[in-house]
Amino acid sequence: MTSPRRLTTHYETGLIWFRRDLRSTDQAALYYALKHCQRVWCVFVFDTTILQPILDIQHARRPHDMAQDRRIEFILAALAELDQTLKQHGGGLIVLHDDAREAIPKLAAQLKADAVFTNHDYEPAAIERDQAVQEQLAAQNREFITFKDQVIFETDEIRTGQGKPFTVFTPYKNAWLKQLTAFDLKPYPVESYVSSLAAPPAKLAHGLPTLQQLGFAPSNLTGLKLPAGVSGAQQLLDDFMSRIDSYRDRRDFPAVKGPSYLSMHLRFGTVSIRTLARLAHELSLQPDGAGAATWLSELIWRDFYFMILAHHPRLASGAAFKAEYDDLRWEHGPQADAAFAAWCEGRTGYPLVDAAMLQLNQTGYMHNRLRMVTASFLVKDLGIDWRLGERYFAELLNDFDFSANNGGWQWAASTGCDAQPYFRIFNPVTQSERFDPEGRFIKRYLPQLAGVPPEWIHAPWLAGTDRLAEFGVTLGKDYPEPVVDHAQARQRTLARFGK
Ligand code: FAD
Repeated sequence: MTSPRRLTTHYETGLIWFRRDLRSTDQAALYYALKHCQRVWCVFVFDTTILQPILDIQHARRPHDMAQDRRIEFILAALAELDQTLKQHGGGLIVLHDDAREAIPKLAAQLKADAVFTNHDYEPAAIERDQAVQEQLAAQNREFITFKDQVIFETDEIRTGQGKPFTVFTPYKNAWLKQLTAFDLKPYPVESYVSSLAAPPAKLAHGLPTLQQLGFAPSNLTGLKLPAGVSGAQQLLDDFMSRIDSYRDRRDFPAVKGPSYLSMHLRFGTVSIRTLARLAHELSLQPDGAGAATWLSELIWRDFYFMILAHHPRLASGAAFKAEYDDLRWEHGPQADAAFAAWCEGRTGYPLVDAAMLQLNQTGYMHNRLRMVTASFLVKDLGIDWRLGERYFAELLNDFDFSANNGGWQWAASTGCDAQPYFRIFNPVTQSERFDPEGRFIKRYLPQLAGVPPEWIHAPWLAGTDRLAEFGVTLGKDYPEPVVDHAQARQRTLARFGK
């Protein structure tokens, strides 16, 4: 890989391969391609090796329905906007639907590109794909040049005093903040070099494929409050900036607008991490900067988990970070299968857990506090392997990112690098009382509980049959009985981990 600061060569023709960086401003690979090539083509590949498994899973579950995936629609919308912007500057996108390993070297040969430029990806499968692409390009005498773009500090940039990678967040964060300079947050001035953009040759200017051509039917994405593309990210960012001061105080309460809702944009690069970290850092230095400082911490968690994955690729094969927890004995059999189905479908009888799972199923988003509560519930109340929950989240989360998802699951399951100790077990009722005291979030997703007052909403089974009937609820009919007794489950979890 060529380090950007050492890139001195100039090329006649280059190809920039967009992946999870779907914007034309402050984009490292695009900047270097434009600056170092006389002519630059732009490509995005709908990679069949990524799409086919999604289609296969959905077809196996619902053989008669077309698959749906909000992320594919989000990408299509982002590409349409990117294509328009590139066209305004004389360029445009070549969009392929193919196996990227084959398609990129083939396209580079067709265009006679001297070099392919792209941004780093830290997931083991992507690294392997990139190596395969690089080898094929090298065999054709073409270069493959990659850049850091989606994080502030990557793999080896932040190290302990002994020169080792960190495994605990707080000292990592302190070192991250200490090392940060204005240069790390500086935007790449892509605009100065756009004159190098080349329009796609006529035989490759097919435009974007339709959702149907990719094998998918429309989802409910457009009905959600989730504007797509760079313009959508800007809209969300403007809104969040007006309330970032209250982030620290509001972020844990799912019924209120506390967080930024920018995660899907960060996932697909429709916003630059440098823009966000720069704003957060500047504001954190103001007298009332506590909200911004807390938010910056969350962005640092993101870097942290990318770094952890880069150093521990075995995580992508299902390994527990703490190897001693690799052979925990999880619940199995029909009862565990039924409990897992109840968790997935929001039928556990614990209202906050169920409302959270319905939020995920209906929107593809889940509030961070609720990700912690539902993950803990699956692992420590139902005794089910965290990997099943991790996979379920991966299928549904709009912002699914292997590193953050795996990090979050292993944190909740106490198997991770800087995880909750196993004996700290969230009580789902107490969490509900603390973070949704009035039950407003619960009632948004469980309207059948609308008549239940705050006193009983967190654990309706404690109200008794007669009182619940007064609130219009019959357990087992309108809303499920609890699938597990928390106190007993707690003991089972302590025994499971303590052995
Ligand atoms: P904000 O609170 O506004 O945070 C801003 C950004 O910081 C987020 O967009 C995200 O990029 C980053 N961030 C925040 N918290 C974390 C964190 N704990 N770890 C890493 N980055 C963080 N986040 C994902 O982006 N993708 C996932 O697949 C994912 N899976 C998770 C699974 C579990 C079990 C848990 C506990 C957390 C997971 N998170 C994941 C982290 C977090 O829940 C989401 O980033 C956050 O809820 C997204 O909403 P937001 O953009 O409004 O967040």
